[in-house]
Amino acid sequence: MAVAAGVRLYPAEDWYDRPMRWAQLTLVEDDPGNFDPSFWLDYFHRTHSDAACLSAGGCIAYYPTKVPFHHRSRWLGGADPFGELVAGCRKLGMNVIARTDPHATHPDAYAAHPEWIAVDAQGNKRRHWADPDFWVTCALGPYNFEFMTEVTKEIVTLYKVDGIFSNRWDGSGMCYCENCRSNFKAFSGKELPRTNNPQDAARRDYTVWRQQRLFELWRLWDGEIRKINPNASFIANAGGGALSSLDMTTIGELAHILFADRQARRGLMPCWMNGKNGKEYRSTLGRKPIGGIFSVGVEEQYRWKDSVQSPQEIKVWVADGIANGLRPWFTKFSGTLRDHRWLKPVEEIYNWHYQNERYLRNEEPLARVALVYSQQTAAYYGGDQARAKVEDHTMGFYQALIEARIPFEMVHDRLLDSAHVDPFRTLLLPNIAALSDGQCAQLREYVERGGRIVATHETSLYDEWGVRRKDFGLAQLFGASYGGKVEGPMQNSYLTVEKDAATGQFHPLLKGLEDAGRIINGAHRVAANPLRKAAYAPLTLVPSYPDLPMEEVFPRVPKTDIPEVFVQEFGRGRVVYFPWDIDRTFWEVLSVDHLKLLRNAVIWATDELPPVSVNGPGLLDVTIWRQKQSLTVHLVNLTNPMMMKGPIREIIPIGAQQVRIRLPRAARVASVRTLVKRQSRPFQVKDGFLHLETPSIEIHEVVAVDLA
Ligand SMILES: [Zn+2]
Repeated sequence: MAVAAGVRLYPAEDWYDRPMRWAQLTLVEDDPGNFDPSFWLDYFHRTHSDAACLSAGGCIAYYPTKVPFHHRSRWLGGADPFGELVAGCRKLGMNVIARTDPHATHPDAYAAHPEWIAVDAQGNKRRHWADPDFWVTCALGPYNFEFMTEVTKEIVTLYKVDGIFSNRWDGSGMCYCENCRSNFKAFSGKELPRTNNPQDAARRDYTVWRQQRLFELWRLWDGEIRKINPNASFIANAGGGALSSLDMTTIGELAHILFADRQARRGLMPCWMNGKNGKEYRSTLGRKPIGGIFSVGVEEQYRWKDSVQSPQEIKVWVADGIANGLRPWFTKFSGTLRDHRWLKPVEEIYNWHYQNERYLRNEEPLARVALVYSQQTAAYYGGDQARAKVEDHTMGFYQALIEARIPFEMVHDRLLDSAHVDPFRTLLLPNIAALSDGQCAQLREYVERGGRIVATHETSLYDEWGVRRKDFGLAQLFGASYGGKVEGPMQNSYLTVEKDAATGQFHPLLKGLEDAGRIINGAHRVAANPLRKAAYAPLTLVPSYPDLPMEEVFPRVPKTDIPEVFVQEFGRGRVVYFPWDIDRTFWEVLSVDHLKLLRNAVIWATDELPPVSVNGPGLLDVTIWRQKQSLTVHLVNLTNPMMMKGPIREIIPIGAQQVRIRLPRAARVASVRTLVKRQSRPFQVKDGFLHLETPSIEIHEVVAVDLA
């Protein structure tokens, strides 16, 4: 097989940024001898995949391992399918990482090493929930620290791979084995927690200890790999947003490269969720490459792992990841194909990506707005209810920004130093409840330097451990102090839309609501009192009143002067604070009035022309990037009845879009092209802005601006 045209032979060191398209083949135990490696190598070649992740060991070994209790596939015979695939990929000029999965093991391993097996809260060894022939392993004890270290060393020694990617390496829930018990006791002096309450002292210590232990394992494996191959590293399947359990800032320091493992939509999940991964990972990895793992199958609770999804759904999902800086990584389980329908759409995506690679190698995003996320808020304030109390606020704000076509990044709350936040004009704090004094000081300094903030609900009302403060940590910024209670869920409560009595004008926050008089409130509110009297409050509270019997549905208190938004200029910056759960309620109810408020709040706070604005019909995810010699604007068409719940089965093209892009100072435009329709486009440059019109968009369009 010929080496793909354009494959450059890079020095082995620092290979991480080279691959743009990844292929993953996860073998199943009966693949050896039954699947055709040359079929896969040919497919990697045709898709211009420049790196591969291939099953090697852990649960099942796909090479002739000599590590005791490393279970060789029963179909292996004398063959070495992993080695054969590695050699084939190397001939294609690909980077190769080996996949291990240590989460389950076999009865012979249990018999010889019962201490390797995870233990449940009742003290029983855990059988595998999906396959009772297997046992669940303890991630924090000798199984990973000793046995898997030997497996890892053997794979790197035999095959000189570029890294070890480990799936499900961080355990399968709480383990009460003797090792975990004694190690935790040595760390904390306490017994393992039996509650999920984040305010329980043992639970809090456990959250810290578990992370320390896993990062210790990460460093151990990474060190052992580098002793054998200095250009390789450990690549954990880890990371995510507020709900992920390992600290993303540490992950960002340890990882050279990382992969966001959200393979497809399931249940109620909007199309933009893949792009959200890109933003979350980038917040702590910066310019390090991030792959977006997508499966080609149906990802629902019934786990049809060997299925094939509609091509439209695959394409929209992957396009949103690419638009948000993810490098595509397809994953297929089973080397033997039973349904071939995914091959063509993935080949089409990859070929387009290959042809336009120059415009997809991003240097930096140019968004000026950033949505903050907080793992400590999820862990210590949200606890078991983190999805409803924390993530749903983020989801609502995210949806509003998409609908408002405001390009944005995400920021980790433990990276609020000026280097990380000063590229952004405005930070959004969707119920970032748990913030330390230091973090509050960083936010205050950010605003004093000219930054802007839009915050909601209980933001800063708790310290970093989720313990409630007497007052908001950000009271000065909000111009409000805590009024002593949080109400909700509230039935049938409203907000009066107020004019400024002094000027007779509505605040810009109320644009589009001037004729409303009154709009619906959220479902939860923090009682908040203004620090200064007589300030104009654009929204005031109409308290709940009976919603039945219908004869009783009239406001008992038609109007109050209780502010439900605080708007102020502070230092050189601006701050908008909504004491109610506008973002969470928007996610639940999707009221267009709440959308207008969120959009207006971001626009008023930001108070500058955006880096890109896009006008035209439809719902679009808009992102803007700079490459070495170009700018790109991605437009992903999410206009679809299946936007909130897949799978998409039909693409609804949207009409022409008017695009205005702010050019870097002194930039000269050489040409403007659309990379999907492959047209060069007429354009105008006026006052530092580039104006053009895109043709109709089916799934994805990229406006590429070549700079002279
Ligand atoms: Zn254990």
